[in-house]
Amino acid sequence: MATHSTLTPALSGVSAQLAARLAKLGLTRDADLVLHLPLRYEDETRITTIAEAPPDTPVQLEVEAQGCEIVFRPRRQLLCRVQDDTGMLLVRLLNFYPSQQKQFAAGARLRLFGEVREGYSGLEMVHPRAHLVSAGEELPQALTPVYPTTAGVSQTMLRRLIGRALTTVDLADTLPEALRQRLALAPFAESVRLLHQPPAGLQGAGPGAGARPEGSPVAGPQAGASVEHGGRDSGRTTVTSSLGAAGKAMSLAWRRIRFDELLAQQLSLRRAYAARRSRGAPPLPATGQLTARLLVELPFLLTGAQQRCWREIAADLGQRHPMQRLLQGDVGSGKTIVAALALLQAVENGWQGALMAPTEILAEQHWQKLRHWLAPLDIEVAWLSGSLKKAQKAAMQAAVREGSARVVVGTHALIEAGVEFPRLGLAVIDEQHRFGVHQRLALRQKGISPHQLMMTATPIPRTLAMSYYADLDVSVVDELPPGRTPVLTKLVGEGRREAVVERVRAACAAGRQAYWVCPLIEESETLQLKTAQETHERLSVELPELAIGLVHGRLKAGEKSQVMAAFVAGEIQLLVSTTVIEVGVDVANASLMVIEHAERFGLSQLHQLRGRVGRGAAESACILLYAQPLSQAARERLRVIFENADGFEIARADLALRGPGEFIGARQSGAPLLRYADLDDADLVSTARAAAEELLNEHAASAAAHLARWMGGREELLKA
Ligand code: ADP
Ligand code: MG
Repeated sequence: MATHSTLTPALSGVSAQLAARLAKLGLTRDADLVLHLPLRYEDETRITTIAEAPPDTPVQLEVEAQGCEIVFRPRRQLLCRVQDDTGMLLVRLLNFYPSQQKQFAAGARLRLFGEVREGYSGLEMVHPRAHLVSAGEELPQALTPVYPTTAGVSQTMLRRLIGRALTTVDLADTLPEALRQRLALAPFAESVRLLHQPPAGLQGAGPGAGARPEGSPVAGPQAGASVEHGGRDSGRTTVTSSLGAAGKAMSLAWRRIRFDELLAQQLSLRRAYAARRSRGAPPLPATGQLTARLLVELPFLLTGAQQRCWREIAADLGQRHPMQRLLQGDVGSGKTIVAALALLQAVENGWQGALMAPTEILAEQHWQKLRHWLAPLDIEVAWLSGSLKKAQKAAMQAAVREGSARVVVGTHALIEAGVEFPRLGLAVIDEQHRFGVHQRLALRQKGISPHQLMMTATPIPRTLAMSYYADLDVSVVDELPPGRTPVLTKLVGEGRREAVVERVRAACAAGRQAYWVCPLIEESETLQLKTAQETHERLSVELPELAIGLVHGRLKAGEKSQVMAAFVAGEIQLLVSTTVIEVGVDVANASLMVIEHAERFGLSQLHQLRGRVGRGAAESACILLYAQPLSQAARERLRVIFENADGFEIARADLALRGPGEFIGARQSGAPLLRYADLDDADLVSTARAAAEELLNEHAASAAAHLARWMGGREELLKA
């Protein structure tokens, strides 16, 4: 996906075959090698005796070989006896070359690196790294780095390539000296050299300065000889006093690397942002002609949060460069009306507005709602979806092309070839995380850089917003409309399903409606469908007096919307569904949500589903039916959803449980994931953000050098 500019010097002195393998590790330039940092270290700077070697801990032994034999128990393997002054040990090689057999010839002196364990016939080492000791061979002075690697690339190879890169690549600091000092950051060259080749005797290479969690295993003089850094799995910044000076230096080195990586991310995102800003967009100033009328017609007043977001958007639309704004707000916070106002502001100025949603159901709900809101203003809302008949679709496309369709709502069909928006002023994209980068780009290219508003109900934790979303402006609807009732969440074991069915009966008897969400079966859509149908049948038997509907992904769009319309109209009391209702569906009279096998759902899915109820005045409940045994992760998810109602809290927990990779979903195809830094360290993220701003404004050359070092050609995608 990332194409590298031909100007970038490739890896030097590497065969095409090896280059291809290294590319899998993201190593395509010599400079990349410098930033390919060890996962952990092995300590070959000292020797342990067989008698003193602690079990199951990496150690180095120096031994004399006593001879080998090939045995077939149960499969072919090589067994070699070795000894030192303190004892005997068996080396076991399950796959071996004749050369290895020779290496262990009787009398040979070898250094072995591996873990000693108790075998059937005494102490043994399985597949140690071994080499013959030459006369007078000294122990290495530096710890041995262990790098992330891939098939066909040995550690030795990586060490050699990286060692060479450290002497040939320009390691000049990309930070202006004054800035580096002000931020108390270690010099770059020193940091990478230290991390690739840490000195012997290092105690605790890593904890502190956030290199890795405290209490992780570290090398001690008498114990193991393996030191892990886990560059990205902690954000702690305390340097414990037990660390030696070298340990502190390592911590500072890791801090520098994490900072640099975050800085590169900030720089590329800010640059992408600036590139977009430099493009022209139609200014769509707020005239109020239509928006004011809509506000008068509405049966409610905007909340303070909606007003603020609307003001921010209205101001952006008036600019001559395209808006890039994310409208963020918890489920039910009322983002749609804000989008409607924005669309009208485009129309007021004689431009078109489009709203794209990821599913047919959601798009149709938007369409219905907008039609309803805009009807008094005599504005028709065009509908474009994949399920339209050919002729209808052609007519709609013509209306869009001729400009008679001023507000258009639809699904992916909006970005299909053949849809031309001659005057697209604003594109609104709902549940933006559901769309891939490329789909979003496609809509953008439909006009001359239209303004863009993305909406999401998945709250983005602050550090994520500051990092992965740094190329967007963000408005947050952080207030729910009045009159919402908090949703009571209940965890119920599967064994009490009957009681839950009774509860559905009671709610519907009282005139309310309910959702029943079928278990998620990720592996098979067919099985998912079957389960939904069976659940529907079973509930129909259990609750014969209720009108029960079923929606699932395989229904034709027309059928789907019929069922949804019947549910909205109250003709269906209980709606059995797969997760198609996950986003956006809005039926205020529905007050009960049952989720079967809730343990299989992700946190944000559960939160979204729960958000379907509690939209009216009636007391609402969400029942999470779960089956034992629960995995640790599932238990944790259920705990979080049970204890938290606030989408931001849930998103934070989700981020902590899953890491940012999955969280940002499709966005990762555009923004490189962080390798070393993590987002727990909000201070470092904001420091990097401020530094990026400073570099871009005052030290353009440093910014360019820094991006070149960290991103190579990889940031190109972001500029789109
Ligand atoms: P979401 O942010 O999840 O997309 P919606 O835009 O669907 O939320 O709004 C949820 C419901 O709240 C809708 O029925 C909408 O009409 C209603 N609503 C939105 N804003 C307000 C408000 N200020 N006061 C009362 N109801 C509102
Ligand atoms: Mg919505």
